[in-house]
Amino acid sequence: MTRPTSLQAPASWYRDSVSVELGDCPALEGEVRADVCVIGGGITGCSAALHLVERGYSVVLLEAGEIGHGASGRSGGQILPGLGTDIHTVEKALGRERAREIWEMSREAVRLTAERVERHAIPCDLAWGSLHAAVKPRHVRELEAFRERLARDYDYEALTLLRGDALREHVVTDAYPAALHDDEGGHLHPLNYTLGLARAASEAGARVHQDSPAIEIRRGKPAVVVTARGRVTADFVVMGTNAYQSGLVPELSGRLMRAANYIIATEPLSEARAAKVLPRNDALSDANFVLDYYRLSSDRRLIYGGEVSYTGREPRGLQARMDAKIARLFPVLRGIGIDYRWGGDVGITLNRAPDFGRLDDNLYYAQGYSGHGMALAGLAGKLMAEAVAGQSERFDVFAAMPHRHFPGGEWLRTPLLVLATTFYKLRDRL
Ligand SMILES: Cc1cc2nc3c(=O)[nH]c(=O)nc-3n(C[C@H](O)[C@H](O)[C@H](O)COP(=O)(O)OP(=O)(O)OC[C@H]3O[C@@H](n4cnc5c(N)ncnc54)[C@H](O)[C@@H]3O)c2cc1C
Repeated sequence: MTRPTSLQAPASWYRDSVSVELGDCPALEGEVRADVCVIGGGITGCSAALHLVERGYSVVLLEAGEIGHGASGRSGGQILPGLGTDIHTVEKALGRERAREIWEMSREAVRLTAERVERHAIPCDLAWGSLHAAVKPRHVRELEAFRERLARDYDYEALTLLRGDALREHVVTDAYPAALHDDEGGHLHPLNYTLGLARAASEAGARVHQDSPAIEIRRGKPAVVVTARGRVTADFVVMGTNAYQSGLVPELSGRLMRAANYIIATEPLSEARAAKVLPRNDALSDANFVLDYYRLSSDRRLIYGGEVSYTGREPRGLQARMDAKIARLFPVLRGIGIDYRWGGDVGITLNRAPDFGRLDDNLYYAQGYSGHGMALAGLAGKLMAEAVAGQSERFDVFAAMPHRHFPGGEWLRTPLLVLATTFYKLRDRL
């Protein structure tokens, strides 16, 4: 992980605590043949490659930078059932029965993460328990209604609404009037997890090439994927490039908005101090539309995420705002040292449901998890492998979700999203 390249994951606590050795994954040189060419070395691509080789396909995976260079190696690491949108959005679009299937598959996504961690002995500090915290009184009513609906219509019984002392046993702050505790949510070290999937795929026979951006896809049967110094001829192409794609497949970019999100990692807390923050080691996200989220790392740093930018530039005063938020939530952490700060790009769809589909019979993609991809991206890889093998029923349940292009085309898309988000930020204050 120390080679100098412009497409490394950024300096972060994750990079400094990598414990998975990937082995040599040289840039692609020359012409190769494969059943499937997977583009993108995040969780989507690595999971697809792993499931495909396990099914007996020959696989070449191309990653533009290093494995985990994109969102997967930078994320908050929270693995949660559900989607980036309320399941009600899916219900309205596809009906209750399909929405139930999607909900169940989102739970499968979390179990799949745990299975892979165990099966491939991935050292990624997987821990269980998550909280979704109300910030305003109206959030409490919304969370309670959500819990009831999930229990009634989706047979989901893992949620408990916590208040007062019961809540303080999980998070020691007066900032939240209530929170939903989810037994099935959890968190992990996202870069080690992604590298662990890539290592498992490589050991199972996938040819993994880092520093190998695909610069052109010549669509057809077979398709040809071209890099600077090589090309892959493949019967199928599977795209896992999400927010980091750069116009490689023009049909996909208009369906996605790219937004940067930021994380800081504090210095390690003593055991006593950590017990005054998150005594049960849960992950937490708040109920604001533009949300903050945090958890403890294995060496007890507070990994705190939030704040967005649509310009590619870090927002001014970011560090001071993050410091102030942490001090407000946890006075015991006032003045804590910040050791790391990094950002990454989230791929957001207009309705915040993930966008799965096929562009030709042999070109599959999954993207747009809208900040909720840590578990879902792993499942997306599995579903694309099923679809390549001719079993596309489960992939098609997701692919049936209607998605609109962002209005305004390439140039107006960002200002429109900024406007929309400003509206939601204002609403978050009410
Ligand atoms: C700061 C941050 C915090 C987040 N926190 C959470 C969280 O706590 N929980 C959660 O569920 N989700 C979270 N997410 C979202 C989650 O990380 C993503 O949904 C998920 O990692 C997407 O995985 P992916 O493999 O689809 O995409 P990525 O991990 O972005 O991978 C795409 C890869 O494709 C490569 N690529 C792009 N173009 C090419 C090309 N032409 N050729 C070859 N390779 C190419 C890129 O280099 C990149 O490595 C967060 C995201 C960010 C940025």
